[in-house]
Amino acid sequence: MELTSAAMDSAKILHEMQEILPGLFLSGVIPADSEEMLKEKGITHIVQMTDVRLPRYPGKYLYKVLCVPDWEKTNLIKHFPETNRFIADALGKGGKVLVHCVAGASRSPTIVCAYLMKEQKLKVEEALEFVRIKRPLVGPNQGFMSQLQMYYDIGYDVNTSHTQYRRFLIESMAVERQTFGYINDMVLAQDPMTATAAAAAATSIVPNASSSSSASPSPAESTTTTTNTPALNPARPPVARPAMGRPASAGPRPLKCKKCRRALVSRDAVITHFPGQGQASFQYRKRDGTLHVSEAVQSNISPIQPAVSTTCQSYFIEPIEWIQGLHELEGKISCPKCDSKLGTFSWVGEQCSCGSWVTPAFMLHKGKVDG
Ligand SMILES: [Zn+2]
Ligand SMILES: [Zn+2]
Repeated sequence: MELTSAAMDSAKILHEMQEILPGLFLSGVIPADSEEMLKEKGITHIVQMTDVRLPRYPGKYLYKVLCVPDWEKTNLIKHFPETNRFIADALGKGGKVLVHCVAGASRSPTIVCAYLMKEQKLKVEEALEFVRIKRPLVGPNQGFMSQLQMYYDIGYDVNTSHTQYRRFLIESMAVERQTFGYINDMVLAQDPMTATAAAAAATSIVPNASSSSSASPSPAESTTTTTNTPALNPARPPVARPAMGRPASAGPRPLKCKKCRRALVSRDAVITHFPGQGQASFQYRKRDGTLHVSEAVQSNISPIQPAVSTTCQSYFIEPIEWIQGLHELEGKISCPKCDSKLGTFSWVGEQCSCGSWVTPAFMLHKGKVDG
């Protein structure tokens, strides 16, 4: 069988590792299994990203093993700080690092791109182009591309103080709950009562603390929110999914319980959504939708007007510390002080009165809270 030169090139690339930066290599699983190739390149450290697999040469190389599927909803960004550190440490000691997954196309290039982006302050496309010069077959899945973009947007600083990252984690948690029936590591918004206490304490310790923060760079000129985070429920078309908007940054006034006035949620933990399609959205959920349609046709009723209110009768919030029973699929939300019923939550999502779906949903009735 004769192979075209392009096919031969791509086969060659698949079977070899490429040096992306001095000392930093990228490959699929074949070179990682070949001690000959590892020795030839002088590899000392290996970042292994496979579904479930033990290191091939434990004791001979220093491994960092991430058991992660090449799945759009896999949370890779949470690993960026540790993989970046691992790579930087290895290179700093004069070592050579191989980052590999199975094909060397999606998972491992994402990790290499994250390293390049942080080290050289690059945008996603710049890092990707740089990697593709050496390994053209590289193409992270859509979810990983979104995570790389988010990494850039949050200034290469993976931290729950960034609203965008927190919202991403909440979506990841919903996927985890729906897929596995439990949530391993629940990230919750801070109770405004404890936040206030903590802030007061911090101020009293360091009265003149400068608020200008850290070494973390801020490459994003604007904080335009991207809404191309992974779709939540595979069974639901992405268009039906509401965008997790930016928080209403209308000052620090938290939502309060109408009955006892306890502060419930700070404004940056209130999630906005696009008001839905009214009747169309409601029909989406109707179990006997066909019956309604035929009734409408037979009785010659003019096309249904969106008689339902298009205003939102609920606040959607991030899951927050004081909500009880969050490991359940759904439940009630009660005031942590007076116990009056405020709303409901569901990890699979709920529909707002405006017709829009919010997934997951932590919903407070507007009649029960002061906004
Ligand atoms: Zn609404
Ligand atoms: Zn209350």
